[in-house]
Order: sequence, then C-alpha cells, then structure tokens
Amino acid sequence: PKVTIKSAVFVGSAVERAGYPGESLPEVAFAGRSNVGKSSLINCLLGTKKLVRTSRTPGRTQTINFFRINDAFFFVDLPGYGYAKVPAAVRARWGPMMETYLKERRTLRAVVQILDFRHPPTPDDLALWNWLQATGVLTLPVLTKADKVKKSLRSKNLAQAAAALALTSCDLIVFSAVTREGRDLLWDRLMPLVVP
Ligand code: GDP
Repeated sequence: PKVTIKSAVFVGSAVERAGYPGESLPEVAFAGRSNVGKSSLINCLLGTKKLVRTSRTPGRTQTINFFRINDAFFFVDLPGYGYAKVPAAVRARWGPMMETYLKERRTLRAVVQILDFRHPPTPDDLALWNWLQATGVLTLPVLTKADKVKKSLRSKNLAQAAAALALTSCDLIVFSAVTREGRDLLWDRLMPLVVP
C-alpha cells in the first residue's frame, strides 16, 4: 500500500528523558554516522525537502529530535556519531543520551540504522549495531548513497555489509535519497511497525 504523508510536524528536541514527548504513539528512530545521509533519508521518506535540516557542519546536532507524522506515529532523529571534530565533552554525552533513549523508550518499535553503501561498516557502526542486537532492539539496516556505487560493485558491497552485520543480503535495504531507490521497500518494512 502506498503511504501518504498528510502531516509531518517537528515536535521538539530533547537531551534528557524529561524532554521526550509523551509515549502516546508508536515510533521509529533513525541512527547513523554523522554525514551518512540520515536527514536526507528521513526527508526522502516524508517527501518534503526541508523538514529535517541537512547539515553542512556534521556532528552539530546532538539532540534527539521528534517528528509527529500523520498524527499517528513519531519519527525520531537520533544524534549522529563518529565525527572526529566533535568536542570531547559533546561526544561523552552521546553514549548516555542514546542508551537512555534506546533502553527506556517504551513506544520505540524499531531503529533504522543507516550505513554508507560505498564503504564497509565502520567500527562505530558495528559497535551500535552489536549493542542494538544485544539489547534486543529491532533494527532495520539501510545502505544509503546507492547512486554513488557503480553497478559492478553493488553485489560485492552488499555481501561485505551483510557479512559484517552477520545477516544475509536480503535483510539489507539499498537506498538512495537522490534516486529514491529503496524508499517503497523501506516504507513497506516500516508501516507494520507503526500501526497502533
Ligand atoms: P546526516 O548528517 O546523516 O543527516 O547527512 P545529510 O542528510 O545531511 O547528508 C550528508 C551529505 O550527503 C549531503 O551533502 C547530502 O546531500 C549527501 N547525501 C545524502 N544522501 C545521499 C544520497 O542518497 N546520495 C547522494 N549522492 N548524496 C547523498
């Protein structure tokens, strides 16, 4: 079924748990390395260009941002990781902020973990992936920037990512915010998770 976005509203940003909106709707969170294309992916899913700001200065967004979609579910933009120029104090806050959210948010249905299709998963990617698996959070891995990968390298990169995550290739969603490849498939996997 085709997804129609009737409304997408920025609800607020939080660092502490007290700042989260109430647990009234199911939600899906998006995580990834800074600059991986997380904002572009969320905007592509929503079909609006400017809801989530794509940043020129990676690693600056260090809050958890909540968006209410169709008054039916939340999309949650988690702070990016792995950007070297983030000050140590900011980086030190990232872990506890993520851990509190991921462990305590009762309405969290899944995390979309966004990886770069051009490169193998980074140690930071794998650390988050393994932590999510160990914690029992349903995780949908998405390989983005597919438009930047030569046709001849696609199956190799896919196999490499699948091996690193201990998955099979069909568990991975290949995506591009430029060509919109993978958008329908990702929505097909998300929709059942955000029904009440
Ligand atoms: P974020 O920091 O993870 O939110 O990343 P952004 O969405 O801000 O994207 C970082 C950079 O990658 C920007 O220059 C985007 O235009 C670019 N980008 C994001 N997604 C894609 C994609 O699917 N294909 C291509 N070619 N570029 C992308």
